[in-house]
Amino acid sequence: MQTKAYAAQSATTPLAPHAIDRREPGPADVALTILYCGVCHSDLHTARGEWHGVQYPCVPGHEIVGRVTAVGSQVKKFKPGQIVGVGCMVDSCRSCSACKEGLEQYCDGPVGFTATYNGPVGGGFNTYGGYSAAITVDQGFVLAISHAEKDLAAAAPLLCAGITTWSPLRHWKAGPGKKVGIVGIGGLGHMGLKLAHALGAHVVAFTTSPDKIADAKKLGADEVVISKNADEMKAHQGSFDLIINTVAAPHDLDQFLVLLKRDGAQVLVGAPPTPHPPPGAFNLIFKRRTLAGSLIGGIAETQEMLDFCGKNGIVSDIEMIAMSDINTAYDRMLKSDVKYRFVVDMATLG
Ligand code: NAP
Ligand code: ZN
Ligand code: ZN
Repeated sequence: MQTKAYAAQSATTPLAPHAIDRREPGPADVALTILYCGVCHSDLHTARGEWHGVQYPCVPGHEIVGRVTAVGSQVKKFKPGQIVGVGCMVDSCRSCSACKEGLEQYCDGPVGFTATYNGPVGGGFNTYGGYSAAITVDQGFVLAISHAEKDLAAAAPLLCAGITTWSPLRHWKAGPGKKVGIVGIGGLGHMGLKLAHALGAHVVAFTTSPDKIADAKKLGADEVVISKNADEMKAHQGSFDLIINTVAAPHDLDQFLVLLKRDGAQVLVGAPPTPHPPPGAFNLIFKRRTLAGSLIGGIAETQEMLDFCGKNGIVSDIEMIAMSDINTAYDRMLKSDVKYRFVVDMATLG
């Protein structure tokens, strides 16, 4: 099926209209018309060739909400007309130990999981993502969305920003009695604040942007710290159980490690194209602290998060844009000028 999309033809060309081919649904497939697609900083890293191994043309987008148009003969869980989501993965080997445990994002198969864009496909490499009018996805990687029709655009960012913060919050057991820090109040960070708050933790936002203080409190932060202010940082020394770091640029990790209590963990989810300066060993050794990382979340866990958000009325704070605004949106994202996630209204694709 010829399908309208927006693609970058190289690391240095702006995204522009481009036609792609989508497969007809096979027996296990779900075909959907894309209604909304969130704009993740990973889209920008990929389109602009900042990460290793980007294939062009590149059609980003992995925060997809759409309406089912057709299902294959084996599909029982989804039916035409239903609202569904697709996140960062569209397939995995399904037989390795990670896949069997529902941790498809850590798939140990020959090519790992199949990313929604720039992923392995048909012996080559280059899946096309959600900056497009339609997509066909195996039923095992399609999520049910229970949000009200009016909230569907704002639910789209849950498919990446939501699950990427939910997964480490759950793994490191954020909840009542735990002090949780969220570093960087962008797309991921603002969802981290909402989710950590909803899970009952004491939440502290770390930002480099003083104009986000009032918002961070509304988003769920009990306290807000300007991370450039040494005195404000010092006041929190040795007090955190968990800090989730979403920052998309290299920076000093020690300034956050020293804020952890004994056995506390700083979990990196931000994925800057160049390394952070190496952290010192002593800040880890002396209080048995952990520096860890976390990748999106499994399919079952993503459904759990979507159901939790549906039940608790949690969505992203979004600015809706037209597809043709995408290059300006990327430039604004680089300036931390997004409150707090751009979402493309796919009807504007024409
Ligand atoms: P975003 O909306 O651009 O937010 C990043 C935030 O980091 C900014 O809003 C800003 O917050 C802060 N920041 C930016 N530059 C900074 C700098 N030089 N120093 C300190 N703080 C800075 O990006 P996003 O979509 O949330 O994505 C964040 C990162 O996570 C990206 O690298 C993305 O690729 C990665 N990611 C990883 C996963 C995963 O599975 N691990 C999944 C999705 C995305 P303040 O203004 O509050 O300081
Ligand atoms: Zn993402
Ligand atoms: Zn696997």
